[in-house]
Amino acid sequence: MLKKYDYLIVGAGLFGSVFAYEATRLGKKCLVIDRRNHIGGNVYCENIEGINVHKYGAHIFHTSNKRIWEYVNRFAEFNRYTNSPIANYKGEIYNLPFNMNTFNKLWGVFTPEEAKNKIEEQRREAGISEPKNLEEQAISLVGTDIYQKLIQGYTEKQWGRSAKELPAFIITRLPVRFTYDNNYFNDRYQGIPEGGYNVIVENMLEGIEVRLNTDFFKNREELEGLANKIVFTGMIDEFYNYKFGRLEYRSLRFEHEILDMDNYQGNAVVNYTDRETPFTRIIEHKHFEFGTQEKTVITREYPAEWVPGDEPYYPINDEKNNELYKQYKQLAEKEENIIFGGRLADYKYYDMHHVIYHALKTVEKEFNLEDKMV
Ligand code: FAD
Ligand code: UDP
Repeated sequence: MLKKYDYLIVGAGLFGSVFAYEATRLGKKCLVIDRRNHIGGNVYCENIEGINVHKYGAHIFHTSNKRIWEYVNRFAEFNRYTNSPIANYKGEIYNLPFNMNTFNKLWGVFTPEEAKNKIEEQRREAGISEPKNLEEQAISLVGTDIYQKLIQGYTEKQWGRSAKELPAFIITRLPVRFTYDNNYFNDRYQGIPEGGYNVIVENMLEGIEVRLNTDFFKNREELEGLANKIVFTGMIDEFYNYKFGRLEYRSLRFEHEILDMDNYQGNAVVNYTDRETPFTRIIEHKHFEFGTQEKTVITREYPAEWVPGDEPYYPINDEKNNELYKQYKQLAEKEENIIFGGRLADYKYYDMHHVIYHALKTVEKEFNLEDKMV
């Protein structure tokens, strides 16, 4: 039977949007659906008081891949924003990521050698040779003082688990530098799209049919009947009706507030690294775009255990969940007409540039364009 669409794309986030854009360029007919009432997935911004508010948490684009950078720049202009978060530990302010400014403030050391000696001394005292979990990895990278003030509290609230139970890789996302450099990322390219992330996604989806407020699982049979192939970017365990059990996720609650002042905290991102403050960070959105509006909008980010019905923001890539994911992946690999991709279907802690890379690789594979895209 002739189907109406070549591809049904479930999810209007970055993965779905890149795939839809490229497939359409190649002459395919796509239908994109999303269960939310807007496109963009987690990069969606809402304009409040003239400020682009990152509704699902701060999003800073960064990559070292020149082709990915050139690719996103086709859809929007990027500004020169460089992420330099501040940590607030019980009123003490430290620079992030961990660098000479942090070490100087904490220990009064001036030289890289002094800082390295201090960390080595603390690492030796803790008796860690081969780090096996986040706690050990953190102490071996930056010592116990920084671990206790800037990592343990934040991490345990963020993940709702002891740092001893968490995989070491999570903390290696953050650079440790022996220079006075507060740039949170090591990547060569970084910035925020001017006008917010919606500009990118709107440009990708221009002219493509999109149905919002449409949950794949509520009309599965009908939707499956519409297209020859499905690109699925939702939760892989939900796709298989949780037949091997549920994957765990970490969720977040965002509390947005408009304030009648022009500058609340002087920085886009301030992390609250103690255990007691119930939120992990406060975002002041205007600073992503050097805004000069009269008012400001801030967002407090409260971590929460994910329960069905919540948004699943972070996969919990510990051993137990990774093993479970492998079972779902084996099923996925046998599918001929279903393509899985993105943060939820791959169950990976991807950044935006990873998602775009994987979407373009998927396009290459699907359309036999070996290495033509990235
Ligand atoms: P998503 O954006 O999650 O899109 C998936 C879409 O599928 C969603 O819109 C969802 O509603 C829809 N969907 C799911 N199931 C169904 C269904 N059954 N039916 C219909 N629709 C469905 N990355 C960076 O590079 N830099 C950052 O600073 C950064 N900060 C982040 C901060 C936070 C708080 C979070 C949570 C993520 C952050 N990321 C950051 C990661 C970034 O958001 C993701 O890598 C990227 O947006 C994922 O794109 P995606 O298309 O895979 O998924
Ligand atoms: N982290 C921390 N203290 C901080 C910031 C981050 O301990 O002030 C740890 C925490 O475990 C977090 C991880 O580093 O989950 C990765 O941080 P990142 O800022 O990359 O998290 P994301 O923006 O993806 O939530």
